[in-house]
Amino acid sequence: MRYTDEDKKFIAHARQQEVYGEDFLGNKYIKGYRCKKCRRVFPLDHMEVDHIRPKSRGGSSRPANLQLLCVSCNRKKGSKLEGKASKTSSTRKRVRRVKSARKKA
Ligand SMILES: [Zn+2]
Repeated sequence: MRYTDEDKKFIAHARQQEVYGEDFLGNKYIKGYRCKKCRRVFPLDHMEVDHIRPKSRGGSSRPANLQLLCVSCNRKKGSKLEGKASKTSSTRKRVRRVKSARKKA
């Protein structure tokens, strides 16, 4: 697992959220973090720092925009956002075309 310096800073901040819980296999109590999506507890090496608003869409790397998600939830979220992002870029293109048409008129 690779973390950027920003991620590490956030993890230090998130240590306050450390909990004891049944792990994702449901068979023992571990010290870890609760996934913001599925609410299960995972050890840190099963978690990823997620940008609530993606960096590619102008999201900041401040703790307010970061959350810990388990690897599987983060992957699911990633694929969903890719779909949204492509929709947004085609909308933007359409807007640009409308604007240039107005200039000509
Ligand atoms: Zn999860």
